[in-house]
Amino acid sequence: MSDKTALFGLDREGLTSFFAELGEKPFRAQQIMQWIHQRGEADFDCMTNLAKPLRSRLAAVAEIRPPEVLLDQQSADGTRKWLLRVDGGNAVETVFIPEQNRGTLCVSSQVGCAMACTFCATGHQGFNRNLTATEIIAQVWVANRALGHAPDGERIISNVVMMGMGEPLLNLPALLPALNIMLDDMSYGLSKRRVTVSTSGIVPAIDRLKAQCDVALAVSLHAPDDVLRDELVPINRKYPIAELLAACRRYMAGKSARSHITFEYVMLDGINDSSVQAARLAELLADVPAKINLIPFNPFPGTPYRRSSAAAVSRFQELLLNRGYIVTVRRTRGDDIDAACGQLAGQVMNRLRRLESHVEAAR
Ligand code: SAH
Ligand code: SF4
Repeated sequence: MSDKTALFGLDREGLTSFFAELGEKPFRAQQIMQWIHQRGEADFDCMTNLAKPLRSRLAAVAEIRPPEVLLDQQSADGTRKWLLRVDGGNAVETVFIPEQNRGTLCVSSQVGCAMACTFCATGHQGFNRNLTATEIIAQVWVANRALGHAPDGERIISNVVMMGMGEPLLNLPALLPALNIMLDDMSYGLSKRRVTVSTSGIVPAIDRLKAQCDVALAVSLHAPDDVLRDELVPINRKYPIAELLAACRRYMAGKSARSHITFEYVMLDGINDSSVQAARLAELLADVPAKINLIPFNPFPGTPYRRSSAAAVSRFQELLLNRGYIVTVRRTRGDDIDAACGQLAGQVMNRLRRLESHVEAAR
């Protein structure tokens, strides 16, 4: 830990007050944002439009410290995964998923997760700590710097989803500045529709998110009734489905007719994939602007669940399509590098220890 101000995690407002304290003009905030997030520059000495004395002052009181990349893996399907070291002997994973007309970065918000969803590897790992705003945005920084721009000048990362490790809505103080930086035209300039926060259903935080930064919302529903959801997603005991859907309706109030909430539904063989459950789900979502995303379960060591068969997934999808829903099935990506949903983290700590013992041995 250092007592210098970490500039990475400051959004426009934060940088403006930082420079005000130094007696500098507000436009310095824009300049430094562009250097850090658009040009990927971490060295004050290279920031040529800042006068030399200012650069030395910045170096004395502030820092732009990129996280150490412990692993950088590329899957056969183009998915790329970074394992980044964060303070306290931990590591987090960030995954880039290229598709035909977009590139999605999947970002982590916590080390581990306290929500203990029964089908999730991160949930099994338990909660370690919240990431700081710096650690959240640094994931975008590392990926953006590595991936750069397409030949036509388009940004390779067109979408960000907060679907890595952790429950983002239990870390709002760090999440909000990180989201602001993703959206700011002087940094990553992503549109609100292309930044998605995924939540297991922290009802009061859904309202707070809307008030402060109404990006796209994804809700991990996974069950069409409270009995089953209580079991799969334990936070449901605190915020049951009716309350969650009421929060979803509030979130969508006043938004354009084209916008919707994405409901995620992991397909677990014999648990939540029957036709009756599909019909119940269709009824449940009748008065919420919804898109449904079916996620074939990704197994991890020790899990009792199995992935639903392709036939069961198609049947479930068909039933919902017939009720007029937009239903997508998530293609499983990055399987060979354990980058698929819910596989993040499972072996992170083991891998980290292994890696450290290699480094140790090499010394
Ligand atoms: N904590 C947040 C965001 C991270 S999880 C949330 O739960 O929404 C991102 C998505 O991956 C969630 O929809 C989650 O339910 C899903 N997921 C978790 N484990 C999975 C697994 N083993 N297979 C498939 N999807 C999984
Ligand atoms: Fe946490 Fe999301 Fe995993 Fe549930 S699914 S344990 S909320 S990361």
